[in-house]
Amino acid sequence: MSAKIIKGTEIRNVILEEIEAEVNEIKEKHGVSPGLVTILVGEDPASISYVTAKIKTAQKLGFKEIQDTQPVDLSEDALLELVDKYNNDDSIHGILVQLPLPKHVDDKKVLNAIDPDKDVDGFHPVNVGRLMIGGDEVKFPPCTPAGIQEMIVRSGVETSGAEVVVVGRSNIVGKPIANMMLQKGEGANSTVTIVHTRTKDLAAHCKRADILIVAAGVPGLVKPEWIKPGACVIDVGVNRVGEKISEKTGKKIAILSGDVDFDAAKEVAGFITPVPGGVGPMTITMLMKNTLKALKFSLGIA
Ligand code: NAP
Repeated sequence: MSAKIIKGTEIRNVILEEIEAEVNEIKEKHGVSPGLVTILVGEDPASISYVTAKIKTAQKLGFKEIQDTQPVDLSEDALLELVDKYNNDDSIHGILVQLPLPKHVDDKKVLNAIDPDKDVDGFHPVNVGRLMIGGDEVKFPPCTPAGIQEMIVRSGVETSGAEVVVVGRSNIVGKPIANMMLQKGEGANSTVTIVHTRTKDLAAHCKRADILIVAAGVPGLVKPEWIKPGACVIDVGVNRVGEKISEKTGKKIAILSGDVDFDAAKEVAGFITPVPGGVGPMTITMLMKNTLKALKFSLGIA
C-alpha cells in the first residue's frame, strides 16, 4: 500500500490561517501587530530569495516587517550596533539575521547579540538551553524542527512511546528535533536515537524507527529496505541534483531531491514527506509563529 503523503504546503496553509486570525484579534484588542526585522548583509542570491519569501509571508499576515539590507562590507561592530538598535525597538518583536554572513563577521557573536526574547530563529544559547529543559521553559523552538513536529502531530502520527530515529546531528535540525521528541509532553514522549557518519550500522537503526527523521544532506541516502513497514518518514534533506527550465517562468531552476529514495520508500512507509513541498514550506511558517509568540510574550498574553 502506498504511504499517505504529508503535504507541507497544505499544513502550512492551515497554520498561516490560524496565525492570521490571531494577529487580527490581537490588533483589535491591543492595537499592535507582530514586528519582524530581517537583516541581510550583502547580495547572496539564495539569501535574497529566502529573505524575500519571509517578507512576503509576513506582509500577507499583516505583520509590521522591516527588511534591513546592508552592504557586504558592513563591519562586525556596525552590525552589532544594528542588532542592538532593534533589541531596543519596542515595535520589533522578532529579529532575524540571515545567514551566511560575510567571512569578516563572526556569526556566533552576532547571533548571541540578539535579545533572547526576540530570537525568533531559536539559535541563541539561552533558547537552546530552554529547549533542552523543555515544557514551559521553551519560548522559540527552532523553525525547521518545530515544523517537523507540527507535521507529525497534525498527521495524527502517535509519538508517545514511538521509536524515533534522527539521521544527522546538526545544531539546526538533528539535535533540536531529537531533543524535542524526547521531551515529556504532547507530540513527544518518544524514545530517540541520533545517528551520524560515525554510526556503525545506520540501516539497522533506521529499520527500528516508527518515525524516521532524515537530515543528512545526502541524496537518496535512505533506502526503502531501511524503512519499517508503516513508519512515518520525514525527509528534511534539500539537495540540488540538477537543473531544468521552469514551465512557469522559462528560467533555469534547480531540480531538488531529498535524502530518501521517495518513489520506492512511499511503497513501504505509512506516511512520508515529499521534497520539495514537505518540510521546506514549514520553516518560514514556524518563523511567523515564533514572531507572533514574541509579541504575545511582550504583551503578557502567551
Ligand atoms: P549538516 O549541518 O551538514 O549536518 C548533516 C548531518 O548529517 C551531520 O550530523 C552528518 O554527520 C550527518 N550525515 C551526513 N552524511 C551522513 C551519512 N552518510 N550517514 C549518516 N549521517 C550522515 O546539515 P543540516 O544543516 O542539518 O541539513 C541537513 C539537510 O537538511 C540538508 O540537505 C539541508 O539542505 C536540509 N535542510 C532543510 C531545511 C528545510 O527547511 N527544509 C532546513 C534546514 C536544513 P556528522 O555530524 O558525523 O558529520
